Amino acid sequence: MADGLNIAQVECWPIKIPLARSYHLSAVLGTLTHSQAAIVRLTLEDGTVGWGECDPHAEFDGYTLEKACQTVAERASAMIGLSVADWVENARGRAFHGTPAAAIDVACYDALGQARRVPVWQLLGKRVHDGVDVLWPTSSGTAEEDLEIIQERHPQGFRTYMLKMGSRPIEDDIARTHEVFRALPDGVQIMVDANQGWNRDQAKAYAKGCDGLPVVLIEQPLAAEDLEGMNTLCGETPLAISVDEALLTPQDADEIIGHDAADVFSIKISKHGGLANSLLISGAVQKAGKLVLMNSMIELGITQAASLHLGVTLPHLMPCGHAYMSTLRMADDITDFSDWVQNGYATIPDRPGLGVKVSLDKISQYQVGEAHVV
Ligand SMILES: [Mg+2]
Repeated sequence: MADGLNIAQVECWPIKIPLARSYHLSAVLGTLTHSQAAIVRLTLEDGTVGWGECDPHAEFDGYTLEKACQTVAERASAMIGLSVADWVENARGRAFHGTPAAAIDVACYDALGQARRVPVWQLLGKRVHDGVDVLWPTSSGTAEEDLEIIQERHPQGFRTYMLKMGSRPIEDDIARTHEVFRALPDGVQIMVDANQGWNRDQAKAYAKGCDGLPVVLIEQPLAAEDLEGMNTLCGETPLAISVDEALLTPQDADEIIGHDAADVFSIKISKHGGLANSLLISGAVQKAGKLVLMNSMIELGITQAASLHLGVTLPHLMPCGHAYMSTLRMADDITDFSDWVQNGYATIPDRPGLGVKVSLDKISQYQVGEAHVV
C-alpha cells in the first residue's frame, strides 16, 4: 500500500528499572527487585512511530530478557514492509502469542492511532468508562504487613487491594484475611491471588473459611491446568473465582468457559500476546456473561497504557480496582503513565495512539544490552 503506513524500521532496547520496593511473590517464585522489558519502536514509511513493550518473566513464560529481544528481532524482519492498517484491521496479531508478540502488536496499534490521529481505544471499540479505579497489591505476607500497606495507600485514593497468598498454611491465610477485614477502612475492597498455590482441599477450605466475607474474588487458587477442580470450586462457593495463569490464549478462554471453570477472567496484554488477542478473549468472556479483571505483571507504561485503552471499552469490568499501578511501584519509568493515575483512578489523556510519552533519555539510562535495529 502506498499510504505510508508500511513498517520501515523496528528497534528494540533491553532495559531494567529498579522497583521502588522489592516484591515477594511466593516461596517458589522468590522476590523481585527490578522490572525488565524490551522496548520496541516501529517507524513507518511516513515517519510515524509506534511503541510497544515486551515484559518477559522467565519463571512464568520462559522468556529471559535476552531471548525476548532476540524473538522480537527475528519477528521484526518479517514485519518490514507490512501495513499497520492491515495488521490492526485484520487482527494479524491473533496469529502470535507470548510477550514478544505483545510488543509488536501494541506498537502496530499505537502507530496506526498516531497516523490516523485517533486514540487506540477507538481502534478497539466504544469507550464506556471515563477511567478505571486502580487496585494496589500486597506481598505474600502477614495481616500486619497488608494493613500497613493499606493504611499507607488508602489516603492516596486506592480502594481495592489484592492480597497475594498461597505460600503459607491455609489456616494462616484464612486468619489473615479475617484480620485484615476487621481493621479495614470503610469502602475498601479486598481480592486475593493464590498464584496456583493451593490444592483442591486447601482452596475449598479457604473459600469456606472466608465465604462470610465480601472477598471480591479469589484468583487462580488451583494449578492452571486443573479446570475440573476450578469448576467444582465455583459450584462450592458464593465467592467469585478468577483465572490468571490458566488464561494465556483465546483457546484457553474458550476451554475455561466450556468447563465453567471461572467467574472472572484476568486479562494481561503482555501475557496474551497483545491487544488483538486480549480483545478476542474479552469478547468471549462478555458473550459468556462473565467478568474481566484488567491485570498486570510488573510492567512499564507502554503495556499499562495499552491495557487502559482496552479497559475503558469493556462494559463487563469487575466493579472494583484494576491493575494500573505497575509504574507507581517502580523507582522510575520510561513513560509518563504514572501521571495518568490520580487519586487511585486512571484516565487516558486526549492524545492520538496510546498517548503515552516515551523518553529516549530514560531508555538509554536503563539500557542493559545492545539495541537491535531491523
Ligand atoms: Mg495473578
